[in-house]
Amino acid sequence: MNLNQAPKHDIPYSTMTLLRPNIASMNGYVPGFQPADIASWIKLNTNENSYPPSPRVVEAILAELGTDGVSLHTYPSASSRKLREVAGELYGFDPSWIIMANGSDEVLNNLIRACAAEGDEIGYVHPSYSYYATLAEVQGARVRTYGLTDDFRIADFPDRYEGKIFFLTTPNAPLGPAFSPEYIEDLAQRCTGLLVLDETYADFADGNAMDLVRKYDNIVVTRTLSKSYALAGMRLGLAVGRPEMIAALDKIRDHYNLDRLAQAACVAALLDQAYLRECCARIRETREWFSAELRAIGYGVIPSQGNYIFATPPDQDGKRVYERLFDQKILVRHFSDPILCHGLRISIGTQQEMERTLAIMKEIG
Ligand SMILES: *Cc1c(COP(=O)(O)O)cnc(C)c1O
Repeated sequence: MNLNQAPKHDIPYSTMTLLRPNIASMNGYVPGFQPADIASWIKLNTNENSYPPSPRVVEAILAELGTDGVSLHTYPSASSRKLREVAGELYGFDPSWIIMANGSDEVLNNLIRACAAEGDEIGYVHPSYSYYATLAEVQGARVRTYGLTDDFRIADFPDRYEGKIFFLTTPNAPLGPAFSPEYIEDLAQRCTGLLVLDETYADFADGNAMDLVRKYDNIVVTRTLSKSYALAGMRLGLAVGRPEMIAALDKIRDHYNLDRLAQAACVAALLDQAYLRECCARIRETREWFSAELRAIGYGVIPSQGNYIFATPPDQDGKRVYERLFDQKILVRHFSDPILCHGLRISIGTQQEMERTLAIMKEIG
């Protein structure tokens, strides 16, 4: 065969026929809106942190870069060894129990790739993080969702859940409450597959369930530095699980999944726990203040353990308030989903940002 000759196609085709059917037919995930003139907005729509990261992070990135960027010539550590040691020290686990990820989204994806074959089922709570469904769709896995009861339990969760993975976002986003460790233990016992605790917002909460990883061999916990550490732009996440599961995830990740600057930033951020505590304490304080102020003007606000609240205006018209805030260059999240469209998810920014937002919301009525 002459490789220089253009291939001949007897049958006309469109690009679509080259694709796996599930990829051709799927809708991609739509992330929260990032306006181009971002600095002129109060941005409360994607649960980013409005405070800057620890100054140690910036120092570490600059030190890693060097004056002429010489460090960038060589690959980063493939095993993210230092990061796993620091995270292990922080959470009380041997590094063999920890995998670092390019954002926790990467490890959520790899959990599905590792455990759910085409046609297998994964489950999650609706409402929570719909990206689980997108990742499952790419894999060709089936998705089952479960609703929530008024007392914040999963509705009709079976005694024996046989899906390959159940994703539990705790604290729940967009609603705010966390599930108790006792309730999570009950779920772990009912799941024949993996129970993934997506603890993205745990640093803002009163407690967390990471210790359950030691007790249940089917629990994996994911964390991220995007929200509490104010590093969404660096793409840093991690998972904690039994070494056999971590080893499996390690096989399927990109071998250089974290770049050098991200690795330096991660170590510095995890080591500056004083900064993290101070930043989260401020956000929690603002969250409680803002929630109380909104209730005082007639809003329904679900008690939140995250850096956001789900708030319902007196007229139950979340879209109206979203649009009026948008006109004032305040960006919050409105979901068109019928079970959420009455309200808004509002990220908790700085105290100053929330004072301005409250003032506008009082005007809007
Ligand atoms: C923000 C978010 C993530 C993604 O975090 P990254 O580490 O930035 O990829 C995962 N799960 C939930 C519930 C989130 O809100």
